[in-house]
Amino acid sequence: MSKGAVAMDCLDLLREYVATPSVNPMGRSDLPAQIVGERRYAERVKAHLGALGLDAVLVGEGERCSVVAEARVAGARETLLVASHLDTVPVDAMEIDPFDPVVAEGRLYGRGACDTKAGMAALVAALSQVLARGTLRRNVVIAGEADEELTGLGVRDVLAHLGARRPDWAIATEPTELRVVTHHKGIAVARLEATGIACHSSDPGAGRSAISALAQAVLTMNALNDELAARRDPVLGPGTCSVGVIGGGKAPNVVPDAAWLLMDRRMLPGETAEQVRREIEAALARRDVPDVRISQIVVGKPPLGTDPASPPVRACRAALEACGLCAEPTSVAFGTDAALFAGAGIPGVVLGPGSIAQAHTAREFVEVAQVEAMTRLFVRLLEAGA
Ligand SMILES: [Zn+2]
Repeated sequence: MSKGAVAMDCLDLLREYVATPSVNPMGRSDLPAQIVGERRYAERVKAHLGALGLDAVLVGEGERCSVVAEARVAGARETLLVASHLDTVPVDAMEIDPFDPVVAEGRLYGRGACDTKAGMAALVAALSQVLARGTLRRNVVIAGEADEELTGLGVRDVLAHLGARRPDWAIATEPTELRVVTHHKGIAVARLEATGIACHSSDPGAGRSAISALAQAVLTMNALNDELAARRDPVLGPGTCSVGVIGGGKAPNVVPDAAWLLMDRRMLPGETAEQVRREIEAALARRDVPDVRISQIVVGKPPLGTDPASPPVRACRAALEACGLCAEPTSVAFGTDAALFAGAGIPGVVLGPGSIAQAHTAREFVEVAQVEAMTRLFVRLLEAGA
């Protein structure tokens, strides 16, 4: 990198990022090609980092790629990863032009303004200041990862690219209103399938209803949720389970031989997919629910539980205090990529501008003052060293 690079303004960057669509299709195929995928935004970030003298590379496939760059400085004792996901949710129901960033009454509006393009804009602006002054004291890996909102494709690509060059700790930018977040629950979805014996409904006793078995499974999962309430994390409270979707049967005059449900299971730090599976199986066995099995458990985001006394939290607290911001660690109700990085041996926190109350909304916005404060915070973190 070269000393003397031009400082960039966080709001100019954010306007440009919001105007660059990077919609996660979330499994849909009906969205216009010109707004789908992270590549355009990854290329914008790559160009900005390139202008700062950093060698950014695109990793991953096709339109769903991520961007990674590294800024290293002689004498630095640790490497910080800042991950700011590139994707946004779709824009169908928006009441404003999602890609026309408008600033009004101290807010910048547009899709991704808050979740989470403001985080990337603050990071790039801070880097530009620090590199211009030649005051970088911490190695930093900048990652814009694809597909945070669905399967975590981007985290896998970023980790594969870094290989053995693992950063010491990570900040995932998400709208936390500039609070340092050490804990959130994980999200797993379990699919349960019930089987029965089909027959004519005029003689239901000749068969066995899969829907009746599934109904017992639903009640068992409700009871399991009550049991989970007894096991509380001191920060996050209890894990939960909730049946969200059911299906089954073919016609009123056929005793059904198949039915299924999808269940959302919020996991506490320390809980694993295997443990979730065993608990569901044990609950079904205890209540003698026949003919129901777990066909799949997918952990979308693992739980995050970072020790508040650990170096990442201490570094963030020091920077927050230096910037006159609240330094008390907290928790959030949503899942983040910080937990995926933590699972790969890179402990971390979540910290960023904006409020989750505005994320994914029809009139998404971020407070300009928070983007500016986040920029100052990143400057502090980059200049502080370890
Ligand atoms: Zn987000």
